[in-house]
Amino acid sequence: MKKTLDFLSLKLLRKIEIRYRLINSFVLVSLVPLLIAGIVAYRESSSASQEKIRIFAGEVVKQVAQNMLQQIEKIESSSEELVVSERMQGALSAYYSGSESDRAAARAGMTRLMLENYGSFEYINQKYVLDRKHRIIDSQVFAQLGNGVAHFADDAPDMKGRPYWGVYSTAAGQKSVVMLRDILFKGNNRLAGTLFIGLKPTHFSRIFDSVDLGYGSRLFVVDSRDGRIVVSGGQDNSDAVESGLVAAIAQTVANGGKDFTSYQDGNKKKHLAAFAPIPHTDWMVVSTTPLNALNAEVRSIRNKIILIGVLCFIVSFALSFIIARSISLPLKQLVGVMKETKTGNYLIRMDYEGKDEITVLSQRFNEMASKVYQHNEHLEEQVAARTRELELANQKLEALSATDSLTGIANRRRFDEALTSELRRAVRSQKPLALLMLDVDFFKNYNDRYGHLAGDACLRTVAQILRTSSRRATDLAARYGGEEFSIIVAESDSERAIQLAENIRAAIENLHIPHEDSPFGFVTCSIGVIAVQVDDSMSTDTLLRLADAAMYLAKSQGRNRVVLNDGNDITGGSAV
Ligand code: GH3
Ligand code: MG
Ligand code: MG
Repeated sequence: MKKTLDFLSLKLLRKIEIRYRLINSFVLVSLVPLLIAGIVAYRESSSASQEKIRIFAGEVVKQVAQNMLQQIEKIESSSEELVVSERMQGALSAYYSGSESDRAAARAGMTRLMLENYGSFEYINQKYVLDRKHRIIDSQVFAQLGNGVAHFADDAPDMKGRPYWGVYSTAAGQKSVVMLRDILFKGNNRLAGTLFIGLKPTHFSRIFDSVDLGYGSRLFVVDSRDGRIVVSGGQDNSDAVESGLVAAIAQTVANGGKDFTSYQDGNKKKHLAAFAPIPHTDWMVVSTTPLNALNAEVRSIRNKIILIGVLCFIVSFALSFIIARSISLPLKQLVGVMKETKTGNYLIRMDYEGKDEITVLSQRFNEMASKVYQHNEHLEEQVAARTRELELANQKLEALSATDSLTGIANRRRFDEALTSELRRAVRSQKPLALLMLDVDFFKNYNDRYGHLAGDACLRTVAQILRTSSRRATDLAARYGGEEFSIIVAESDSERAIQLAENIRAAIENLHIPHEDSPFGFVTCSIGVIAVQVDDSMSTDTLLRLADAAMYLAKSQGRNRVVLNDGNDITGGSAV
């Protein structure tokens, strides 16, 4: 059960967008009950109205048949008296046996007799006595009419003493409901003639006119032998009923049905028919109701239900659309906003109004986004701080790696780099580059006499002199190695370089750092100087070698002096 529920709600339905789910459910909820109610109501009311007409029309046809029977019996019984009356019997005897004058008297008597009996009945329009050969024994009747009547009587079935009822139409098309009955001589029971009484159909149809079944129903008396209409109600002028009706009634009766059937007319339209036979006749009172008309009321209810259904559909569709939109739009916005955070934009916020779950979700999203944003900001600050610290450390390291730990001036590494870049610059600027190479004189002796620590202190003092002497930004004083120092002097000619070297040499000498094992008595130094116009072919090694050579020259010339290598011995480096 739970599995099915989960499958439906979590797997199947989630494949459909929320708004469509909502719209569908709304429409289903509103339409399905309406549809079921409509179908049930339609069926119920349809069968109820059929049942109603069945009972109602059944009752009506029975009543009408009863009524007809009464009328028929009344006419039959009054005719009974007439046919056995002395005057009728006498007139007929005279008609057959008497002379010509007796016959004439009989005819006249008969005519009078009929007039007396039936003349006062407005609804009786034909009243004849026929002889054995079915000739009218009435002196006043036209021959043509007489033929028609004779034919009618000829065609009538054997009555076996009972009256026969049929429909007679004159040549002029006038229709009568006719009762025929044999007249027998009372003495010998031999046939004496036939009584022909024609009644206006309206006499019977009056009975129907007072009955209105509604639903476009028709009411009539039909002759079950030929389907011809004997009497019909109202404005109904049909001659015969649909052949299907008589057949359907016959079929129903054969199947044991008593009073109700249905049939299709020529247009395939279904009708319900209630019927009741009129005893002693072949007639039947029938009421037919087109199913179509009967269902008109039901159909109008059905149409109303459909209309309500359509309205419900529209309303529920509109409602569900609005509700679905109220859910799907903010959700879409939320999804869009969340996508935006992919690009790192955590400053984006959801708008929210209302109190639903999406509002809560939106608020939570906003809170989360600002937390992520703050977190990111904090992280960036931290990274920046760490980077700054790292840069400082790097700078320190850089400085350390470029500084000589003993003297605090640039070390050999820094010197090499500076010389390379100054050489390049000098090539570009075409200005002379000067280089000083300094070596402390008799320093080994100094160490030996005063100790290594004192030697170090001496080196620091010398370095201090170099630092203060090379004041230009482009000048660089460095410890070249051991007790040897070097100074790069950019954009400087030999004159200026010699001047600088001389200043340094003098400054060190003037420090008067005692040095017992030096012929000068103080710490002194020898400086080799070069100042050259450099070109592409020149390397730092060449420069160093030239400066070195000058310095050795200074040593060889007696120390405590400055010697310029003016380029005459670039390759050799030996004493000039
Ligand atoms: P010269 O006049 O020919 O230069 O004689 P010198 O004694 O100075 O000879 P040399 O340059 O060969 O001697 C270098 C001496 O410098 C050897 C070493 O004891 C000393 N020395 C080198 N580096 C240091 C140092 O860092 N501290 C001290 N205290 N002495 C050093
Ligand atoms: Mg040396
Ligand atoms: Mg030395």
